[in-house]
Amino acid sequence: MELTVEQKQIQATAREIARKELAPRAEALDREFGFPREGLRGLAGAGMMGMTLPAALGGAGLDTVSFVAAVEELARACASTALVYVTHAVACSGILVGGKGSAKGQYLPAMARGEKLGAFAATEAGCGANVFAATTSAKRQGEHYLVSGSKVFTTSAGEADVYVTAVRTSPAPGPAGLSLVVVDKGAAGLSFGRKDRRLGFNGTSSGEVFLDACAVPEANLLGQEGGYMMVAMPMVGLALIGAGAMAVGIAQAALDAAIAHAKSRTVGPQAIAAYQGVQFLISEMASQVEAARCLVVEAARARDRGPSPLPVLPFEAKLFATEMAARVTDRALQVHGGQGYTRDLPVERLFRDARGLTLHFSPSEMLKEMLGKMLLGLFP
Ligand SMILES: Cc1cc2nc3c(=O)[nH]c(=O)nc-3n(C[C@H](O)[C@H](O)[C@H](O)COP(=O)(O)OP(=O)(O)OC[C@H]3O[C@@H](n4cnc5c(N)ncnc54)[C@H](O)[C@@H]3O)c2cc1C
Repeated sequence: MELTVEQKQIQATAREIARKELAPRAEALDREFGFPREGLRGLAGAGMMGMTLPAALGGAGLDTVSFVAAVEELARACASTALVYVTHAVACSGILVGGKGSAKGQYLPAMARGEKLGAFAATEAGCGANVFAATTSAKRQGEHYLVSGSKVFTTSAGEADVYVTAVRTSPAPGPAGLSLVVVDKGAAGLSFGRKDRRLGFNGTSSGEVFLDACAVPEANLLGQEGGYMMVAMPMVGLALIGAGAMAVGIAQAALDAAIAHAKSRTVGPQAIAAYQGVQFLISEMASQVEAARCLVVEAARARDRGPSPLPVLPFEAKLFATEMAARVTDRALQVHGGQGYTRDLPVERLFRDARGLTLHFSPSEMLKEMLGKMLLGLFP
């Protein structure tokens, strides 16, 4: 996979932060259901919290390929930190695309410095994967919207400072009635519910967000009323590609661990690496990781070339890479034998984290449906 000199530098910086700041904390973060504050501080210190934001807004002005190269390195060390990081970048992209001048100035420089953390609150208990059926409402009252409803599974809930939130601004069905608004953590009427106890991504503080007649300034509407699709599409593209990059990073970590274990574990007269069955597992895993990496980088390159009328690559990259990571971490666990099934080794955490990615954002089945419709010319 060819990267430019600049992209390689970003990758090396991310790898160094991952090695020094993220990897040593990953196990405790998962075990204690923590939140990666220290890791995020390290990323902010390296100027990476606004990587794809323009320099004029305090960002690093880098391309999506640099972003995925960095995300892969972060996820390889700590998937929870990578998920919080990607979610922040997705929130930033929504404000960049749809924010008015005042909102951009208010939020983005602080988000790029890492002083404000972003979250994306779309999923609701009642509509799940189908955000177009969201019922959280935003009713105009003077210079404010009064937002009422609730969200579930919000990554960084309670920890983030800025919530890019999907709301219904009119009774028009589907996306035509939907908009996105920015809600501040300190806004009256915003509160947080129970933290989710999940299988994986335990260092991300996932949970419920409640909005009770929460007053949001009109200036915090992203795009136009009913303009959900225009703002959300670039966010979705970045989220899908970011999920693909996380999947590659987790799977690469599992592959590295499986190779190391296969060489060091002796069963009978020889290291298990000498068994053809194990060699087959390793070669299949390595091929799948590399194939997914190529697809994710290709999707990032396509995004950097500009909007496409049929953006299939982010969907393909997310679908392929996350299913790949679920499979590869499963096979890596197999190579580790019974030890892999204990909490003593990192491979079981990789297995649990990878599993979440096939659900995160859009479940694989939904991606397949959307992709199929796009390829068959059936997408509206
Ligand atoms: C690690 C992780 C992080 C997350 N972070 C966030 C976040 O930051 N913000 C946020 O808003 N949400 C977040 N989510 C929520 C996530 O987007 C939803 O879990 C996902 O959209 C699925 O919704 P659901 O869980 O309600 O499943 P449901 O909607 O109940 O779907 C259940 C199953 O039904 C099938 N299905 C549903 N719809 C379709 C369809 N149209 N076509 C085919 N099959 C379908 C799929 O198999 C799916 O897995 C996160 C989830 C995870 C796992």
